[in-house]
Amino acid sequence: MIPFNKPYLTGKEADYLYQAVYSGKISGNGLYTKKCQRFFEENYNFHKTLLTTSCTDALEMCSILLNIKEGDEIIIPSYTFVSTANAFVLRGAVIKFADSYPDNPNINPKEIEKLITPKTKVIVVVHYAGIACDMDVIMEVAKKHNLYVVEDAAQAVDSYYKKQPLGSIGHLATFSFHETKNIISGEGGMLVVNDRQFANRAEIIWEKGTNRTAFFRGEVDKYGWVDLGSSFLPSEIVSAFLYAQLENLNDIQTRRKKIWDYYFQNLKPLEIAGKIKLPYIPEYATNNGHIFYVICSSLSERDALIKHLRNHKVHAVFHYLSLHKSPYYNDKYEGEPLTNSDYFSNNLLRLPLFYELSEENLQHIVKTILAFFE
Ligand SMILES: *Cc1c(COP(=O)(O)O)cnc(C)c1O
Repeated sequence: MIPFNKPYLTGKEADYLYQAVYSGKISGNGLYTKKCQRFFEENYNFHKTLLTTSCTDALEMCSILLNIKEGDEIIIPSYTFVSTANAFVLRGAVIKFADSYPDNPNINPKEIEKLITPKTKVIVVVHYAGIACDMDVIMEVAKKHNLYVVEDAAQAVDSYYKKQPLGSIGHLATFSFHETKNIISGEGGMLVVNDRQFANRAEIIWEKGTNRTAFFRGEVDKYGWVDLGSSFLPSEIVSAFLYAQLENLNDIQTRRKKIWDYYFQNLKPLEIAGKIKLPYIPEYATNNGHIFYVICSSLSERDALIKHLRNHKVHAVFHYLSLHKSPYYNDKYEGEPLTNSDYFSNNLLRLPLFYELSEENLQHIVKTILAFFE
């Protein structure tokens, strides 16, 4: 069976892990944490970064940093992972779900404006498959209505909007290094603080509500409980693993994009014949090879294709179920039908995409798909 995903190891992970363990500092915010954070700050124009144990944690930090309270309204796409919503629901927020574009799962800025009320606090955008949302338009809407923007850039490492790195545009941004993403540490994530007013408090929230990080820098002579917080920082073991991946980021991205391009070129005839749709990349966006998907004409066709691929030893998977229709939110949802989000829930199919996917496997997957539509 060709798996959907296989975590890729660069070869240095165990070395760095060993070094971290035997350095005598295994808890968080040590050498490897700093190396990783510096890597991102230097390469992607992020003002301040803090590694976290997951993207979910980084989103929860955003919710605390933005002082989300009972009844505040947050606008997010319905076509996303649960954590984008949960992080804010945990603090009492009401979620206003926005629809996707018809030809792209990303949030449609036109849908955002319709949902804004005096209670709206934050817009959270998700760069689906690492392909940028239309950030100029979104930042403009946010500015006009005095709202904060969080980029859920979980899938968007090393991807760009009009030459600006994703994660550098919103007031805050979050990344994931879960083993299904391009760059991994098993579980792992990162908070990016671009709006400087949040930088100090982010550090405090990260370190259990204490000013311990400032203490270690020698800025205060003792540390204590100064604010809300939790334990969001990963151990050095996780950061050491992540650093081995970051050193090979270019190689990983190149390989993934090559696989993505192979699918795109070889499935193009099916799109021209009107059988499927392929990913749409707007002119303002780059591709980071995170997900390759095809869009079928119906749910039943998509399910038949999954079965056909499985019968030929290929594991392909659908993706998000619209959150406004989830068992948890369905009876709380009072908005309009979100037909584009539902369309991607029903018709989108993700194909295997990982570093070690061989040319032979790729040819087999494409051949199997072409045969299905014959
Ligand atoms: C993977 C993902 C998350 C969650 O990341 P974790 O690191 O597993 O918490 C959140 N949002 C999006 C869009 C994701 O793809």
